Amino acid sequence: MKPVFLLCVSLLPVLINALARSRVLIPLPIATDRIEVHSHEHVPRPNILRAGPNPMPLNSGPVDGRSIPHNTTSATTTAAVKARELLVASTKVQSTVLILARDTLSAYSASSGLNGYGIPFEVVVVPQTGITLPVLNSSSSAGNYGAIVVVSEVSYNYGGTLGFQSAITAAQWAQIYQYQVSFGVRAVRLDVFPSTDLGVTAIGGCCNDGVEQLIQISDTSAFPTSGLKVGAGVSTQGLWHYPATILNATIATPFATFGPSAGFPASSVAGVINNINDRQQMVFFIGFATEWSSTSNYLQHAWIHWATRGLYAGYRRINLNTQVDDMFLESDIYYPAINRTFIITPTDLDQHIAWMDSVNSRLPAGSNYFIEVGHNGNGNIETADDINANERICRPGPIEYGDQIDTALEFQKPLGTGTDIWPTTATTYPYNVTCTAGDLLMNWWSQPSNMNAYAHVSHTFTHEDENNATFADVNREISWNQAWLTQVGIASATKWSPKGLIPPAITGLHNGDALRAWQTNGIVQVVGDNTRPALMNTQNEFWPLITTVADNGFAGIQISPRWATNIYYNCDLPICTVQEWINTSAGNGDWYALLDLEQATNTRHLLGLHRDPFMFHQANLNYVTADLTTINGVTAKLSMLQAWVEVVTQEMVRLTNWPIISLKHDDFSVEFSNRMTRDQCVPSLVYSVDPAAKTITDVTVTANGNTCGAEIPVTVPGPVTDTQGFRTEQVGSDPLTIWVTLTGGAVLTSFTFIAPIPL
Ligand SMILES: [Zn+2]
Repeated sequence: MKPVFLLCVSLLPVLINALARSRVLIPLPIATDRIEVHSHEHVPRPNILRAGPNPMPLNSGPVDGRSIPHNTTSATTTAAVKARELLVASTKVQSTVLILARDTLSAYSASSGLNGYGIPFEVVVVPQTGITLPVLNSSSSAGNYGAIVVVSEVSYNYGGTLGFQSAITAAQWAQIYQYQVSFGVRAVRLDVFPSTDLGVTAIGGCCNDGVEQLIQISDTSAFPTSGLKVGAGVSTQGLWHYPATILNATIATPFATFGPSAGFPASSVAGVINNINDRQQMVFFIGFATEWSSTSNYLQHAWIHWATRGLYAGYRRINLNTQVDDMFLESDIYYPAINRTFIITPTDLDQHIAWMDSVNSRLPAGSNYFIEVGHNGNGNIETADDINANERICRPGPIEYGDQIDTALEFQKPLGTGTDIWPTTATTYPYNVTCTAGDLLMNWWSQPSNMNAYAHVSHTFTHEDENNATFADVNREISWNQAWLTQVGIASATKWSPKGLIPPAITGLHNGDALRAWQTNGIVQVVGDNTRPALMNTQNEFWPLITTVADNGFAGIQISPRWATNIYYNCDLPICTVQEWINTSAGNGDWYALLDLEQATNTRHLLGLHRDPFMFHQANLNYVTADLTTINGVTAKLSMLQAWVEVVTQEMVRLTNWPIISLKHDDFSVEFSNRMTRDQCVPSLVYSVDPAAKTITDVTVTANGNTCGAEIPVTVPGPVTDTQGFRTEQVGSDPLTIWVTLTGGAVLTSFTFIAPIPL
């Protein structure tokens, strides 16, 4: 066999840059006596955690004779608000959440969490010159918004003696307050300067760069359905905030506190719930930045559950999906050794089964975590053929071909072009079970208890790059792997995804011939790569991308988003992935610095209710030669995947009681598809309010035409009289979700609460 260079062409600029700025030893192209077909994984550069700039420069203002830097205010009004009218029967309130923000970027910090749940919302941007308020109620018994969120008081610096003032006028605030009282609607105010009319006073502003002051939820009694844990401190770095004390406990009840910090020797108040003459609001004395902050993504669940009273059209589910690509392939290791390869062993995989049990025993009730594996059958044939080289039990031998030339990342192949690289003699799948069984790794997988401990999906037969591949090659890549998966029994595993595919190195997604070959073989839902905008849905980050002829050369394949991590495909040990992180992704620090970053980034994704799977590779499951890693005081030998899952799940468990559930490829694909379908139906709830009793008595589910091709989730804080035969879901300590099927017609679907919900 001819020697082949294994280095990805696409990696060359990266390596050259790395060589130019460091003295680190970089692996050079190596020659082997066998053709490796899996050396073209794209090295992604996941978003790194960044501290967001303050949305507005800080101003100075006097508080108790001290000057406090701030960039927002507290909006106040002296207008009297009338008490709730008691005689309006059958008041109806739409559940839509109204968001008032200075701009769309800051509005995202209020909307992204609602979008995660699928709760309907409406954003109104308020410029410095002000707005006309949207119509809050169309009659004295018909409210248009179920909650109101105001970000940074929509305040601007008007200069001079005015300083920071809200762009909502005092008369408009009075109108909002009146609406709240009349309809029992709660308001949330994010990033507010503490002031006396909120029953508090500021004791300072914090923190300068590099200064930490933790924030924790201190009381969840007003939002018990949130599932948040009390007393779990999280970082405020990069989030400007105003520690406060209570002045008037009759109107202000703290629910969150800041810990001690430089200049703040004692705990202080971070947020209060106000009840001011029947007007209820939750106020945070800290800015929100859900686009980069895991803290903001955590805290948002407090206000979402408080403002909605845990009653909403939407639901919350944490799906932790870890996909491990390249099973049966050998990976060329990036660092430190030259000519080093790695392939997983049965001992590594055995240990991960025991470990998955351990993880599940430590997760909240209702959890079910498992690893999903992406298989390449040709690796099995290669190994068996090598082991039994003289007997030739794998006639005519594994599929081999010369090195492929990389294309540009988003290369769009003209249909019908390209050259077959598979041997012309390879027509139908030729191997028998004597061949496939000639490999210890395959023997291990063929044990049902091993196979069924993991989930499984195809990653193509040889891992040929598909950007410039022909229909004939891709057709064989898919159909041969299917034949192999069926032959070895993986296609009969309890968690098998026949309609799914992890494209090799996420290639082929703009190759209409490849997509057509997938679809021809029943593959309709694949994963993409969230570091590549062309593979993401631009309308809604919770929707999959559906391919089109114009963008992808073939229409109708679903691309679900998938996160990259800093655990690289060509690394079996921390020393390797840390080096690659430094060389390719501006990483800085050691294994623990990398794990800290992974924890912050990926708990942010999970707390933001993203269900996108996470990308790993077979080398990341190296346990046999793994290092000791210390996590939360416990030192253990852990594979890199294990260390990653431990830091992410232990943080989730520290913060919440939420069950953590893995879904196999075909199942999470359906979840993405259903989410898009139901959003397009514009689902909503209407609350029926009893003004005299000050309760919500029932809710009615609506949608465009009261029909929808996907079930609509209705999550309720307490039992209803009749779930009407709809599918219900309640896992662990989660609230009940009723999955409503709307089929049109005049009869509306409503649920009545056994115990009406207090306003
Ligand atoms: Zn791969």
